[in-house]
Amino acid sequence: MSSVLVLDAEYPVTRSTMEAVFSHFTPPVSRTLVKPNLLGGFESHRHVTTHPSLIQALVEYFEQHAIPFTVGDNPAGKRNLIERAKKAGIYQASKGHFEDISEGKRITIESDFFSELVVSRKVLESPYIVNVPKFKTHIQTIITGAVKNMFGILPGEEKSMVHCAARSLTHFSRALVDIYALRPPDLSIMDAVMVMEGNGPSSGNPRHLGKILASDNAVELDAVMAWMMGLSPHDVPMLEYAHHRGLGAIDVDKIDVRGDIQKIPHFKVPSRKLVTFITPVSSRYYDLLAVKPALNRTKCTQCYECVEKCPVSALQRNEYPHINRKKCVSCFCCVEGCENQAMEVPSRARDLFNRLLKM
Ligand code: SF4
Ligand code: SF4
Repeated sequence: MSSVLVLDAEYPVTRSTMEAVFSHFTPPVSRTLVKPNLLGGFESHRHVTTHPSLIQALVEYFEQHAIPFTVGDNPAGKRNLIERAKKAGIYQASKGHFEDISEGKRITIESDFFSELVVSRKVLESPYIVNVPKFKTHIQTIITGAVKNMFGILPGEEKSMVHCAARSLTHFSRALVDIYALRPPDLSIMDAVMVMEGNGPSSGNPRHLGKILASDNAVELDAVMAWMMGLSPHDVPMLEYAHHRGLGAIDVDKIDVRGDIQKIPHFKVPSRKLVTFITPVSSRYYDLLAVKPALNRTKCTQCYECVEKCPVSALQRNEYPHINRKKCVSCFCCVEGCENQAMEVPSRARDLFNRLLKM
């Protein structure tokens, strides 16, 4: 039976924390892929990506126990992967074991949105996967943790295709679960020492929690995370659908939690107005009604990374990136990937004002 282990921890995460994790869960014996959250080149003090000390503690554990392993990820965008991994400190923490895992293989998938997808060959060929996500909110999917971190098993351009095929919150959440179900990780170790509240996954506010959560069921781990955020896991479409597919329990009283969990006081989740508004909107009206991102020119460095990341080419290179509202599918990839927090999710009133300006 699966369980969720809750440990007290601080940075730097130590090898003794890993010893505690692997005394509860059976450690791998075969080649292992460590999959961090490397959303982009965010320095570790911003708490957007998995903290490098957690990766380093895992690396040292595997080295000490002679377990063969690779650390790898595959963030969207065309910027140099190694440079981004270095900026986040994950490359250095991997001690020579970091690899690009973007080479893909086309496989069939059980999903209402696509029948085939290209998936990282390295992921498919790894007998054991340790998923190392971060405890964060997400402006589009409400939470991002262990399940959504497995979206990274798709190469960049394939992620774009998913955003185009599954646009609304409900559809995109279901697509994420379908992708997760292709190859659920064997173990997830979540960085919850510093978590992110508000408009995550990159523009929220870091907050201290002082925990490491680990589970052999990523859905149950995310359900515990959502509960700690003060959410009902049934109100998170990704978790509700995963539960519906039989991938894990999401009622916390039905999950075997080992350790102390509490609801975090006054934890800020993404604007409920935005989330509750877009949830019931059918995909037919979604493009018309959903809020579109807005550029804050004072923060923009004109790097045009957002232009590369936009799955539907709704951003053009002008003096500053220009958003074509008609083409935009409100996936917020540009918001989550901007390392300068220059792309923002406006309030509904501000978005209406922007809409009128463009008319
Ligand atoms: S919005 Fe962000 S990613 Fe886009 S050009 Fe400006 S700084 Fe770069
Ligand atoms: S402009 Fe931003 S939110 Fe709109 S489709 Fe492109 S990446 Fe997504």
